[in-house]
Amino acid sequence: MMKRVIVGALSFLLAIPMMIPITVNAADLTYGQILDDLAKAEKELEENNQSITNTEGEIKNDNAKIKSLQNEIEEMSKEATKLQQEIAEANIEIEEKKEQTKDLIVYLQMSQGENIYLEYVFGGDSITDLVYRLSIVEQITEYNENMVKELEDLIDKNEKRKVELAKKEEDYENKIVALNQEIERLNNSVSKLGELSPNLESEVKSKKELVAYYKAQGCSNRGDVIGRDCAVTTSSNATFSRPITTGYVTSFIGYRWGSLHRGIDIGSPNGRNTPLYSIGNGTVTKIWSDNYGALCINIRYKTTTGQYYTAIYCHLSRYASGVKVGSEVNTNTIVGYMGDTGHAYGVHLHLEVWPCRYGEDSNCSGWNQYVSFVNRKFNEGFRGAESVINFPSKTYQYWYSR
Ligand SMILES: [Zn+2]
Repeated sequence: MMKRVIVGALSFLLAIPMMIPITVNAADLTYGQILDDLAKAEKELEENNQSITNTEGEIKNDNAKIKSLQNEIEEMSKEATKLQQEIAEANIEIEEKKEQTKDLIVYLQMSQGENIYLEYVFGGDSITDLVYRLSIVEQITEYNENMVKELEDLIDKNEKRKVELAKKEEDYENKIVALNQEIERLNNSVSKLGELSPNLESEVKSKKELVAYYKAQGCSNRGDVIGRDCAVTTSSNATFSRPITTGYVTSFIGYRWGSLHRGIDIGSPNGRNTPLYSIGNGTVTKIWSDNYGALCINIRYKTTTGQYYTAIYCHLSRYASGVKVGSEVNTNTIVGYMGDTGHAYGVHLHLEVWPCRYGEDSNCSGWNQYVSFVNRKFNEGFRGAESVINFPSKTYQYWYSR
């Protein structure tokens, strides 16, 4: 009885955590979504491979059909040759029969002419014999005439059959042409699908790597929020949103060949024209281009704690329409599009975020002051954009939300 009560109390206690609602913001990325993403990519790859197999099967079928049509055409051609031979033979036979009939008629005429009489008079044993011979001639003539008629019928029949075969052959040739066209179309689609395969394969590969990465970073439950429950990123307490939805870091902030790379470089699988969002609620303070022609935009932000920041976005392909100095922006505002204007080795966003009001505060009132300020902050351990935005801690690790 006592034992049952304890068990009951334990069940109750264990049930409590289940009742606490787990809060997941719509913008948060969960480990489950990453798993689903991988599953989706794997499915796409499988479907693509299946399509290739199916299409190749269709091509094989069409080739088999062509082969069988070609065989039939060959058979028809053999038949046509045979028919033509029969026609030729029948014509010869007709000639022979006609010749024979002609000879017989000559003989008959001779017999019916004066010769009858002569034969009767001189040699004819009997009139019966003569009549008999005449009758034989008549029979043979009639037989030959029937023969010729039959042969002519055969020729007629063969000619008709030849026409029929020619028509059928034309029909088959047309079918072969159509099948060849279909094969061409199918081959095109196989090569298109084939071209897709490496992309899908590399997508699956990178997504598998991502899953493995997050698994190694302690993500295990589908509901784990990336950067909060596991895989805590460069800044666990982000002040700002990421500027693009799907992307990866190509280069972090740090010294490069003696000078400080003040910004974080961000790439996107969507490449040029990837929309660049404002990382927070702010005001556009400067639209400019650098000495190399890079299109840049400065946005001033103020946090809830009253801290000011300036974000500098560079290498834009273009600005978003309507965005101008003084524009109020928020995290849903597209300020421009990714590009490679200026001195850039590829399409990417260079984003600097440092805690001062560029062109306003005395410590970064101009470019030289700003550069010194940033160097100072960096040496103090502040990491600019990396300190105020959640980024994966390794390059080329994708994120899928802002
Ligand atoms: Zn850069």
